[in-house]
Amino acid sequence: MNIHEYQAKELLAKFGVPVPAGFAAMSVEEAVAAAGKLPGPLWVVKSQIHAGGRGKGKFTELGPDAKGGVRLAHSIDEVRDHSAEMLGKTLVTVQTGPAGKQVQRLYITDGVDIAKEFYLALLVDRESGRIAIVASTEGGMNIEEVAHATPDKITTITVDPATGLMPHHGRSVAAALGLSGDLAKQCASVLAKLYDAFLGTDASQIEINPLAITEGGQLMVLDAKVGFDSNAMFRHKDLAELRDLSEEDAHEIEASKYDLAYIKLDGDIGCMVNGAGLAMATMDIIKLSGGEPANFLDVGGGASKEKVTAAFKIILSDPAVKGILVNIFGGIMRCDTIAEGIVAAAREVKLEDPLVVRLEGTNVDLGKKILSESGLPIVAADDLGDAANKIVAAVKQRVAA
Ligand code: ADP
Ligand code: MG
Repeated sequence: MNIHEYQAKELLAKFGVPVPAGFAAMSVEEAVAAAGKLPGPLWVVKSQIHAGGRGKGKFTELGPDAKGGVRLAHSIDEVRDHSAEMLGKTLVTVQTGPAGKQVQRLYITDGVDIAKEFYLALLVDRESGRIAIVASTEGGMNIEEVAHATPDKITTITVDPATGLMPHHGRSVAAALGLSGDLAKQCASVLAKLYDAFLGTDASQIEINPLAITEGGQLMVLDAKVGFDSNAMFRHKDLAELRDLSEEDAHEIEASKYDLAYIKLDGDIGCMVNGAGLAMATMDIIKLSGGEPANFLDVGGGASKEKVTAAFKIILSDPAVKGILVNIFGGIMRCDTIAEGIVAAAREVKLEDPLVVRLEGTNVDLGKKILSESGLPIVAADDLGDAANKIVAAVKQRVAA
């Protein structure tokens, strides 16, 4: 689960992380009022969308010469003008994809005189199974580009969970950023607070880009991207409230209502599978057979007919889907339940896509009987390889036609 920059900064401030003062605004009036509460003489009007690269982003509705999604303002009138121009518009950045995202919230914040910009992030490093600290002198830039062009400018340190963050981590990060004296001390202190915030909120990512040195010699967090482990949100009810559904994929929201693990992907073969491992294997074998999965979907172990119906409808409501592969191993979940769900959903939404079903396990014969007696054009498959070949061939034929 991701949150907006202004929410991330409010959260980090509670852990003592230095951030400029600022207020969120949903309208031009609120933006003007927010600016009035800040001292000036420099304000920054920042589009709040769940994507980075806003500063260099472009608004679809404004011309190519218009300013980006992060703008400096030298007066309250300028704050008003920028807010009026950005609110409701579509911002396209390197991270949004070509469709962009509509700006529905702004953040009005103190303008800071920047002497230098750094990059500092904490994330879960799956390879080492530890929290990793990533630091770079190349702040304010797209870190993927830095990693590609000048990987030596990125320093990665992992933290042993048995010891937690140690003073030497702070010294190493300060050294990597070329800081000494008081700035090195500030750096170690900011890092310790970010680490506390990371553990305390079950974060999966805290990315500060830029971490700036001000002309006055202070380290300040000017941009923050924070994401949490969704599986831990049950113990952070206050954080769960920060969720902004308008920033999330509508299908993923629908899926979460039914407790389905659904992730939209770029391909055209919709998948309905039970168990995350089987779902991964199914996606692998689709790719191996020359196809591309349209989604990851795990309906879980003990799904009801309603859950299967909901899952099937979510897959079908994705316009990119050109065919569906159902691959179910009936253990706790019975094959007849799956079959009933498929038939119910296929009747509700007019099924035009080819549908290949591979069932195995408890009540498999009953499940197959329900499917074959349904009158639906379902292709039965014998095993995983056969199922993948059949659906890939059917989708290729459909796309060619
Ligand atoms: P994004 O990464 O989405 O482009 P940022 O918040 O990083 O958005 O803003 C882009 C750039 O704008 C920053 O690299 C920084 O140079 C400048 N900036 C952001 N916030 C401030 C601020 N409060 N004061 C001065 N400049 C800022
Ligand atoms: Mg940034």
